[in-house]
Amino acid sequence: MSAIEFCNVAVEYEDKMVLNHMNFDIEEGEFIGIIGSNGSGKTTLLKALLGMVRPTEGHINVFGKELFSHLTEIRKKMGYVPQKTYMNPKMPVLAKEVVLMGRYGQIGLLKRPKRADYEAAKRALRDVEMYEMRNEPFGHLSGGQQQRIYIARALVQEPEILLLDEPTTGLDVKSQENIVRLIDRLHREKGLTILFVTHDVNSISSVADRIMYLKGKVVAFGPFSEVCRQDILENVYSVPVRIVESEGKPCVIVSDHHVH
Ligand code: ADP
Repeated sequence: MSAIEFCNVAVEYEDKMVLNHMNFDIEEGEFIGIIGSNGSGKTTLLKALLGMVRPTEGHINVFGKELFSHLTEIRKKMGYVPQKTYMNPKMPVLAKEVVLMGRYGQIGLLKRPKRADYEAAKRALRDVEMYEMRNEPFGHLSGGQQQRIYIARALVQEPEILLLDEPTTGLDVKSQENIVRLIDRLHREKGLTILFVTHDVNSISSVADRIMYLKGKVVAFGPFSEVCRQDILENVYSVPVRIVESEGKPCVIVSDHHVH
C-alpha cells in the first residue's frame, strides 16, 4: 500500500509557488532521502504532509486517506523531528521529560501522564539507546544525545511514518554517522516509513531506498544509483558538481565542497 501520495500538490506563500504541482508515491516501509539546496521546498513538503500548510491545489493521501479530512487520525501516525528545536538549556527539564512531551498529543496538555505513557517513554528511550541517561538534565547532554532525545520524543507516539528535517545539521561527523545508523536501524526493526531531509546525500546514500531531489518540484526520484548523475545534480544545485568514488561508492561533491 502507498503510505504517502502527493497528487498534483501545489503550495504557495504570498503568491510565490514553493511546491509546484508535485506527484509522487511512497510505499509503506520505504526510507526516502529528500535532498535540495536552501529554499528548494524541503521543509514545506514536510509541513504540507503534517497538515501545517494547506496546498492551494491538489491533495495528499496518507495510507489511502485524504489528509485534511482525517487529519487527527493521520497525525497520530506521524512522528516529526523538526529542523531546529529550541529549548532553553537552563530550563530544568530531564531527558525523560522531553520524551514524555511527545505523548501530549495523546494525554492532553493538562492531564497527568498514565502508566502507558511512562511505558511508551521508556521504550522510546531504549530505542534510541538513551535509557541510561534518562534522568540527566536535558541541557547537560551533547548535541548528538539531545538529537536522540528529540527522536525518542517523535517515537513515543509510536508512529508509522517518521519525518526528520536535517537531523544531523550542526553535529560533529561521528554523531552524524551515529544518527544515520540509528535511523537506519529503526527503519529496519520497526518497518517505519522514513522521510529524511538532508543537505548531504552522501551521508544517507547507502541506507536510503530512494532519493528525491527537490527544486520547487521533484527533479528526480529513484535509487541513488539512478539519480546520482551529473546532469541531475547540476540542475539541483545550479553549480558544478563532481561525482567521485570514495570507499567503493559514488560520492557527490558540489563546487569542490562536500554537500553540507
Ligand atoms: P528548504 O527547507 O528547502 O530550505 P523551505 O520549504 O523552508 O525550503 O522554503 C521554500 C521557500 O519558501 C523559500 O523560498 C522560503 O523563503 C519560502 N518560505 C518558507 N516558509 C515561508 C513562509 N511561512 N512565508 C513565506 N515564504 C516562506
